[in-house]
Amino acid sequence: MTNKKKETTVIIGGGHAAGTLLTALLQKKYPNEVVLVSEEPHPPYQRPPLSKTYLAGEVDQTSLYLKSPSVYENAGQQLRLGVRVEQINRDDKNLILSDQSTLQYDRLVLATGSHVRRLNAPGSELKGIHYLHDIADTDALRSELAPGKRLVIVGGGYIGLEVAASATKQGVNVTVLEAADRLMQRVTGPEISEFFYAKHTDAGVDVRLDTAVTGFESDGKGRVSGVTLAAGGRVSADIVLVSIGVVPETALAEHAGLLCDDGIVVDEFTRTDDPDILAIGDCTRHRNLFFDKRQRLESVANAVDQARTAAATLMGEEKPYDSAPWFWSNQYDVRLQMVGLSQNHDQRVLRGNITDKEFAVFYLCEGCVIAVDAVNLPIAFMVGKKLVQQRKSISAKALRDLNFELKSLI
Ligand SMILES: Cc1cc2nc3c(=O)[nH]c(=O)nc-3n(C[C@H](O)[C@H](O)[C@H](O)COP(=O)(O)OP(=O)(O)OC[C@H]3O[C@@H](n4cnc5c(N)ncnc54)[C@H](O)[C@@H]3O)c2cc1C
Repeated sequence: MTNKKKETTVIIGGGHAAGTLLTALLQKKYPNEVVLVSEEPHPPYQRPPLSKTYLAGEVDQTSLYLKSPSVYENAGQQLRLGVRVEQINRDDKNLILSDQSTLQYDRLVLATGSHVRRLNAPGSELKGIHYLHDIADTDALRSELAPGKRLVIVGGGYIGLEVAASATKQGVNVTVLEAADRLMQRVTGPEISEFFYAKHTDAGVDVRLDTAVTGFESDGKGRVSGVTLAAGGRVSADIVLVSIGVVPETALAEHAGLLCDDGIVVDEFTRTDDPDILAIGDCTRHRNLFFDKRQRLESVANAVDQARTAAATLMGEEKPYDSAPWFWSNQYDVRLQMVGLSQNHDQRVLRGNITDKEFAVFYLCEGCVIAVDAVNLPIAFMVGKKLVQQRKSISAKALRDLNFELKSLI
């Protein structure tokens, strides 16, 4: 009798999507060999604390790891860390790695995430200009922050603002330069933007809206000393953080001829157009039955949900991705929780009082709740999650009325 050789599934990536997939395969007692290849030297880890508690020095590096390496290894899952996948050969079903070795696969999962968008402007190579995406980035930024230093943050999105909050608490003088006319414009509505504008300015941050950056000035010794503005003038800086968004990491997939469209295109089972290759997380433009069209999302919830879907697909189960996306951000004593996508709303309903710092904005489209942003109001987020998931129609009057128990809706 001949023993059938075990198949090998290779996961490329070391972020939330790759790590969650490993754990899900463990839980499901996946019968095949699993090898994870990540260019980062760490076991799979979570990024949100990089701009929050880890930057503030409140937690250590190991607390970022989704699991300790021994958990994977004891279960027979192999981690190949600090090694980059350079090429996918779909005809031979193998990968060329940066250590010159070749790795055979039967099934492949791309969890390559995203990389930061660079600001290519004069002076962008100067020392003291930072980006924030991995542990090494946070370590480098944190080592420069000190009371009295001048930090200029280019970009008023949630990562830039989380850093602004953390740095301000450490006594750093912070300026935020945002090209749009309000903060976090891409992800939230005007009420929330205004609330955070007030929160940051009250804390002493110099927030400048409608302010585009054209380049960086040098101190004559190769280090940044200022940021130049499109409208003329400059802002002095000892340290700069550029935080202007991310770009999906699709180079490997594109070179391998997989269908990409600002993200690796996958269906609701996380399958690419190659039946043996799946893709999950930030790197995908994906189908989620919850939406009419494909989306690209940058969030932990999306990475986790897609990883679980991929685990089911690898096990031969048919479990499509079908859930409302959600997200959070922590700034100062404020926890912002968001569910759904608000872009297509035709009505906004405010519940609570903004000055009480406990309120929620419900976004409605044709009477249905399509998104909720809750500030220090977890109950509104919890109920909102259900309402959005069920595409439930609710009267604006009830949502606004503080005597009306939100809990009664679920
Ligand atoms: C500072 C910061 C704060 C954040 N805060 C929040 C938050 O509060 N809430 C939230 O929901 N989301 C937050 N996010 C976003 C969230 O972390 C991402 O959406 C999530 O990490 C996506 O997971 P991923 O595994 O798809 O990709 P990533 O985490 O980007 O991981 C991709 C991995 O693939 C590796 N890789 C890429 N190409 C190769 C290759 N060729 N060979 C080998 N390895 C490769 C990369 O090195 C990386 O380890 C934050 C992100 C950052 C950077």
